[in-house]
Amino acid sequence: MAQTHILGYPRIGAQRELKRAQEAYWKGDIDQQALLAAGSQVRSKNWQAQQAAGLALTTVGDFAWYDQVLTHSLMFGVVPERFADGAAENKLDQYFRLARGRAPSGEPVAASAMTKWFDTNYHYLVPEFSAEQSFTLDAEWLLAEVREAQGLGHNVKPVVIGPLTYLWLGRGVDNALDLLPKLLPCYVQLLEQLAGAAAQWVQIDEPILGLDLPSEWRDAFAPTYDSLAKASGSKLLLASYFSPLEENLELAFRLPVDGIHIDAVRAPQEVEPAIAALRDDQVLSVGVVNGRNVWRTDLAHWQRVLQPVSEKLGGRLWLSASCSLLHSPVDLETETTMAGADKQKLAYSRQKLDELNTLKQAFEAGAEQLPEVEKTPSRSEADVRAELDNTWRAQKYRERVPVQQERWQLPVLPTTTIGSFPQTDVLRQVRKLFRNQEISQQDYDAHLRAEIAEAIRRQEILGLDVLVHGEAERNDMVEYFGELLDGFIHTGNGWVQSYGSRCVKPPIIAGDISRPNPMTVQWSEYAQSLSKKPVKGMLTGPVTILNWSFPREDIPRAVSCLQIARALREEVLDLEAAGIGIIQIDEPALREGVPLRVSGHEDYFAWAVGCFRYTCSEVKAETQIHTHMCYSNFNSIMDAIVALDADVITIESARSDLRLLQAFAGEQGGYPNEIGPGIYDIHSPNVPERKELVERTRELLKVIPKEKLWINPDCGLKTRNWAEVGSALLNMVEAARTVRAEIV
Ligand code: GLN
Ligand code: ZN
Repeated sequence: MAQTHILGYPRIGAQRELKRAQEAYWKGDIDQQALLAAGSQVRSKNWQAQQAAGLALTTVGDFAWYDQVLTHSLMFGVVPERFADGAAENKLDQYFRLARGRAPSGEPVAASAMTKWFDTNYHYLVPEFSAEQSFTLDAEWLLAEVREAQGLGHNVKPVVIGPLTYLWLGRGVDNALDLLPKLLPCYVQLLEQLAGAAAQWVQIDEPILGLDLPSEWRDAFAPTYDSLAKASGSKLLLASYFSPLEENLELAFRLPVDGIHIDAVRAPQEVEPAIAALRDDQVLSVGVVNGRNVWRTDLAHWQRVLQPVSEKLGGRLWLSASCSLLHSPVDLETETTMAGADKQKLAYSRQKLDELNTLKQAFEAGAEQLPEVEKTPSRSEADVRAELDNTWRAQKYRERVPVQQERWQLPVLPTTTIGSFPQTDVLRQVRKLFRNQEISQQDYDAHLRAEIAEAIRRQEILGLDVLVHGEAERNDMVEYFGELLDGFIHTGNGWVQSYGSRCVKPPIIAGDISRPNPMTVQWSEYAQSLSKKPVKGMLTGPVTILNWSFPREDIPRAVSCLQIARALREEVLDLEAAGIGIIQIDEPALREGVPLRVSGHEDYFAWAVGCFRYTCSEVKAETQIHTHMCYSNFNSIMDAIVALDADVITIESARSDLRLLQAFAGEQGGYPNEIGPGIYDIHSPNVPERKELVERTRELLKVIPKEKLWINPDCGLKTRNWAEVGSALLNMVEAARTVRAEIV
C-alpha cells in the first residue's frame, strides 16, 4: 500500500500563535517559559493534524524559533565571534541575537545576513563561515522535539538539511565545500543520535540537487552519502524540491539512501525517469500536492498517472506534497468570511494532508476515478509576448536626465526612504475597527490622512529630499493591490511565513485581472498637497504582485503578469496626471521568480522585464521612475536590471559586503542609471550612528559616481517604530549633508 507523509508543516500556527508569542517575548511581555509552551503547542497540533490525516510518518524538526537554517547553524556551532557571549546562560536568546541582532538578554549586535530560500519568499539566515571554521554538534533541540513527539505517540521522521545544501547556503569562505571534511563528522554523530532516539527514517533535504551545480559539488554527493549511510542506523530519505533534478537525477538515485523524494509539481516529467532509476530497495516519494500554492490538487490526474506505479511499487510508493508546506497557509477552515464557492476550490496545508489521504485511499480501494478539477481557458502566451515587445520609454535615460534635473533640482546625494513608515499600534487598531465595520469608511480615511500628514511633517523636519506618503493605507504591499484589482480572491487568514515572526497573506489570482478604479492616487495626491518637496508615488510592480500571489496553475504566468502590468500602467498614468512626478514601482520579488536552472532564465526575463517596462512605457521624460529591490546580489541578473530602465534603483546592501555593489559600479556593464544602495539595515532595531553612515557613504562614493548616488535605508520602515526611524533617518540625513559638504 502506498504511504503518505509530508516534508514539513507550517510552524506559525493556524492563528499565527507562534508569531504572537515570539513578539511578546521580544517585547518582554511574556517570559521564555511561556514562549516555549507556545512553541510546543504549535508542534503538537501540527503533529496531531498529520496523524489525524492518516499519514504514516510524522515529520519533526521542521519547527524553528525563527528559521530552520539558523537552527542548523546553532546545532553545528556556526556562531560568529560577535555572538559568542551569553550563550551558556541563554541559548534561545543567543539564537534570537543571531537572527535579529538583539534579544531580551545579551548586547545588541549586527544581525546575520538574510536571504531568500531558493525561489521562494521565505528568508533564511545565512550561515556565516570563517576560514578557521570548526563545527561541533549540539542536537539537543531536535532530540527533545523527537522525544516530545514520541511521547505523544507519533511515528517520527526527523528532518534535517543535508550537509551539502547547508554548506552551499553559507557565506564567508571562498569555497564552502572545503569545510565538508570538518562538518561531516557532526552529521555522522547527528545521525547516530537520531537512530539512538529510535527514528526509523530520517529525511535529509538536499534541494541544491535541483540547481546547476559545479562539478565538484556534484562529485561530493557520493562520498558524503557513503559516509552518512554507513553511520546511520535509520533509513535515509533524500529530498529535493523546487526544480527538476535533470543531470543530477542519476546521481541522486545512485546514492546509498533508502528513499528519494522528487517534486512532481515542478518536474512532472521526472516521475517516469525516477521510477526507472529507482532501485529495488528504495522507496520513491512523489510530491504531487503543490506545497507552494492553494489550489486543490487535480487528484484525478495523479490517480491516472500513479495508479500503475502504485501497483508496481506498493508500499515503496510514498505520496507527499512537492516541498515543505511551510510555503502554504495553515488551515482553510479558519477562513470564515471567504465565499463558499471560492473555498471549494482551495486547499491549505491541513486540507493538503487530506488530499494525500484521499489519493492513497483511492489506490487502496482501486476506487473509481476521482473528480476532475476544472481548468480555465486563457489567452495564448504568444499573444502576450508580442504585446510586450517594444515597450521602452520614448526617450533614453540620457535624454531624460537633463529634463528630470531641470524639474526636480535635487541636491547631490539626494536622501529618500523606500516607502513605508511605521505601522503603529493605533494604525493597526483603526484598521481592525474598519475591517470589523466598527468605524465608517469616512472615519477610516480621515485617520489615514492624519497618518499621512504626520509622515510628511516628520520628513520635512528631518530634511529628507524626496518624500513618501508612508503607505499607511496598506496592510501589505501586494495584498493591498490584490484587494483593489478585479480577478483576485483575498483571504482572511491565508498567512505564510516570510521571515522570523513576519508573515504575509498572498492574494490568490483567480482569473483575468483588471483595475476597476484608481488605487493609490487619492493618497499620493493628498500627500503631495502637503509639501513643496516631491512625494513619490508608490506602487508594487507587476512581477512582484504575481510572484507574491498564489498564481493560477492553468494560466501561464506571463499572461497574468501582463494583465497586472496593464492595470498598473493605468495607475501610473493617473498618478502622473495628478501631478505625481516621481513614481516608484517596487520589484523586490523579481529575483525570486528567476527559475533555479539557468536554462529557464532567458524566457523568464523576457516577459518579466517586459511587463515592468510596460507599466511605465508611456510616462513623460520628466517623470522619474524608481524601482526598489530587497537584495544586493545582482551578479547573475544585472542585464535584466539594466533592461528595466528605471531612472533610479534602490537596493538592499547594508547587510552585505560592499564588494557586491561592484556589479553596479563596473565601468562596463555596470548600472547606467542612478542607484541608492541602502546604507543601513532596517531589519534590525539598532539605530545606526552618524559616524558609521558617513563612513559608509564615503565607501559608496568609491564605487559609485556622485551624480548617480542616492542615500536611503535598505528597505521600507513599516516594521520599525517611530523612535528608531526618527533617530536613524536623522543620522542618515546628517551623514548625507556631511559628505555632500566634502564633495561639492
Ligand atoms: N515600498 C515598500 C515599503 O517600503 C517596499 C517594501 C519591500 O521592498 N519589500 O514597504
Ligand atoms: Zn525592500
